Amino acid sequence: MLDDNCIFCKIAAGEIPSETVYEDEQFRAILDLGPASAGHTLILPKAHFKDVTEISDEYAANVLKVAAKLGKAMKKGLGCEGFNLVQNNGEAAGQTVMHFHMHVIPRYAGGEDMVSWDPK
Ligand code: 5GP
Ligand code: ZN
Repeated sequence: MLDDNCIFCKIAAGEIPSETVYEDEQFRAILDLGPASAGHTLILPKAHFKDVTEISDEYAANVLKVAAKLGKAMKKGLGCEGFNLVQNNGEAAGQTVMHFHMHVIPRYAGGEDMVSWDPK
C-alpha cells in the first residue's frame, strides 16, 4: 500500500508533519510548500499510486468529492472567487513527486493571489 521511499506516503500517513487542512480515511489534504496562491492545497491519497493511470476506481471517484469540498470551503473561508484543479502525470507533464496528488489552487478576484494563509 505504502512506499518506504516516497515522501508523500510519509506525509499522508502522518509520519512527517504537514499543514493538514482536511483528512479522512482515504486522503490527507495539505498546504503546498511552494504555493501558487494563498491556500494552495494538495490532496494526497493514503495509499501509493504513481499517477492517475494507477489510481483505483474508488480513490479516483472520491478525490473529486474531496476537491469539491475543499473548493467550497476555500470560497467560504478564504474568499476566493474560484479555484483550479490541477493534476500532473509524468515528468514531461511537470510531475515532480511520483505519488498521485491533486492540486486545489484558490483564485482571487482581479487575479490577486494573497501571499499567505494560516488555516488555524
Ligand atoms: P507536482 O509538480 O508533482 O504536480 O507537484 C508537487 C507539489 O508538491 C509542488 O507544488 C511542491 O511545491 C509540493 N511539494 C513538494 N514537496 C513537498 C513537501 O514536502 N511538502 C509539501 N507540503 N509540499 C511539497
Ligand atoms: Zn507514495
